[in-house]
Amino acid sequence: AFVVFEGGDGTGKTTQARLLADWLRSDQGHEVVLTREPGATPVGVRLREVLLHGEPLAVRAEALLFAADRAHHVESVVRPALERGEIVVSDRYVDSSVAYQGAGRDLDGDEVGRISRWATEGLVPDLTVLLDVDPVISTGRRARDAARSGEDNLEVQSKGFHERVRARFLDLARREPHRYVVLDGGLPVDEVQAQVRQRVREVLPL
Ligand code: C5P
Ligand code: MG
Repeated sequence: AFVVFEGGDGTGKTTQARLLADWLRSDQGHEVVLTREPGATPVGVRLREVLLHGEPLAVRAEALLFAADRAHHVESVVRPALERGEIVVSDRYVDSSVAYQGAGRDLDGDEVGRISRWATEGLVPDLTVLLDVDPVISTGRRARDAARSGEDNLEVQSKGFHERVRARFLDLARREPHRYVVLDGGLPVDEVQAQVRQRVREVLPL
């Protein structure tokens, strides 16, 4: 099964993905691959570096590099794990590109989606967990995390940017309610995780 966490910056995707993977492994006895985009493979690490710390890129170049990272990630990590019957938990996937490069950067979101569908040969998650948080709250978390990790974020961006990204994620979830669950990422970590597990239980075993 393929489970993806989506949402804006500072919504708790990394934390929730890790907690879910730990639980699936130690409690439920599954083989789990915990992964992320961009940057889960050696070439992905280099693409991530270019995307986050390189020179400012043309928006279409940026969109293609995210898609390139994803194509390589899917072929070398995600599909092989799914073929072994393992559970893949990914921190971001296609919908991040639709939201960030589409709504955030003002490209056509459907076109951005098509590039990723080509890049992934149409691999769609079994479940996408959208962690929804008001940008006012998530911006505070991001500032704290950046100070802690020393990693800059690409999106030192306006409030409007983050609001467009959030709105697009919610729109994507409304379009495909069967594959999406939308959770309030502003709740305490444990409460969010309990809801994640409950929903994952419903789709497993796959
Ligand atoms: O989720 P993560 O912290 O790895 O994301 C790194 C940065 O890349 C964030 O600032 C995020 O906003 C940005 N990003 C983006 N477009 C994507 C995925 C991530 O702009 N498709
Ligand atoms: Mg994160």
